[in-house]
Amino acid sequence: MSRYEIMIGLEVHIELKTRTKMFCGCSAAFGGEPNTRICPVCAGYPGALPMVNRDAVMKGLILAKELHSRISPSSRFDRKNYFYPDNPKSYQITQYYRPLSLGGEVLVKGRKIRIHEIHLEEDAGKLFHTPDGRTLVNLNRAGVPLAEIVTEPDFRSADEVTAFLEILRDIVVYSGISDGKMQEGSLRADVNLSLYDTENQTAGTRTEMKNLNSFTEIRHAVESEAKRQARIIAEGKTVTRETRRWDEDLRDSFSMRGKEEAADYRYFPEPDLYPLRITDEMLREAEEQRRELRPEKEKRYTDVFGLSLYDAEVLTDDPETAGLFEALAFRTGDPKASASVIETEILRLKKETGIPVSASRITDEKLAEILALRKTGRITGAVMKELISVCYQKETEISEYIRINGLQTIQDDDAIRAWISEVIREQPGPVSEFLSGKEKVLMFLLGQVMKKARGRADADSVRALLLEKLGNS
Ligand code: ADP
Ligand code: MG
Ligand code: ZN
Repeated sequence: MSRYEIMIGLEVHIELKTRTKMFCGCSAAFGGEPNTRICPVCAGYPGALPMVNRDAVMKGLILAKELHSRISPSSRFDRKNYFYPDNPKSYQITQYYRPLSLGGEVLVKGRKIRIHEIHLEEDAGKLFHTPDGRTLVNLNRAGVPLAEIVTEPDFRSADEVTAFLEILRDIVVYSGISDGKMQEGSLRADVNLSLYDTENQTAGTRTEMKNLNSFTEIRHAVESEAKRQARIIAEGKTVTRETRRWDEDLRDSFSMRGKEEAADYRYFPEPDLYPLRITDEMLREAEEQRRELRPEKEKRYTDVFGLSLYDAEVLTDDPETAGLFEALAFRTGDPKASASVIETEILRLKKETGIPVSASRITDEKLAEILALRKTGRITGAVMKELISVCYQKETEISEYIRINGLQTIQDDDAIRAWISEVIREQPGPVSEFLSGKEKVLMFLLGQVMKKARGRADADSVRALLLEKLGNS
């Protein structure tokens, strides 16, 4: 593939995290019982009138600023006319002639990717195909605000595409603009791909691929489509300009429809909405609402907290985890210990329980309390883990939990000696192995004693007492 270079341009849809929909007061939250979050406006009743959601515009403005896109002082909404069962009005309100912002750029792996424009629009509903061949319509998503980012065809590989989408996801998540979840469809990318002929310096015909909802799928789709086009060119045929649907299971794309031209949509200005005037006040507000982004946070964690770049990257996994870390570091005055507990315990719990930090019950206050108990030796490491896990999953009063479950560290050497005697009696095999020089067996015996102590004994004291006892036997 030396003669041909892959050329990719993206159209990225981002669902904006607003309370209500783009043009009505219905909830814009993901999910819900089908068709319970609808009204005459988003269900397309004749005569119902739309109203622009100011918060959606603000979030669009923040996005435009982050991507260095020039905000139009006055933009406008247009109607894009087409029939489809998930589109009850038979038109989508979008911005075609005068989008929210023009231009912009993002630095991806040291290369500039140019943005063509960002515009606001509304999402369509969702179709559900039943096993017995019927199709059901759910309009909960119809009218959810979207920002569409159109890039120039500046990408040269799937790697660049996924790197760009990762940067974009961090931006929208850290800005609080969107959940940025590809698997829930709040970040979706359509891939336009053509092969550029470097010998004759001519652009090829591009196809558009839809339905790509993970980085892995994007990778496979780019690879397969580039091969398909190369094969067509090698056979002396021409690539057809069309929209193709990517099939995740078959790992192949299929022609969906010929590419419709702009004229097919009969775009015209939306008569029910005034032009969208962006005031200085709104621009100021967007500036004020701007939040610290992931790369800035990482830099601050290394520069101010003295953490490694690795720690900084791990701790900024999501804004809530980063927020918890910062609050804990300020509370304890110990960034390194705070980083360590977040990395080893919180991120593990996040993964194991599937509960995101934002929905967990843990707070920096609780974590600090647990860390202090551990520091003063009132609880063991094992109990610390247990407490963090419990507090992560439900509202817990720590001192009460310790009292009810008898989790204070056992300082009583006699009690520990009694357990050791029991273990020595119950495990004659391992004991004689140890005595004949197999030192590794000590860990096993220690574990047995800890089990009897239910994790409440200090491992170092148990070890010392165990060695003492074994030495005497
Ligand atoms: P249309 O109006 O047909 O949708 P646009 O000019 O709006 O076309 O471009 C849509 C997308 O196609 C953009 O993301 C753009 O970067 C991409 N694109 C344009 N030309 C090419 C090309 N030769 N190869 C790959 N992608 C392209
Ligand atoms: Mg287009
Ligand atoms: Zn509605």
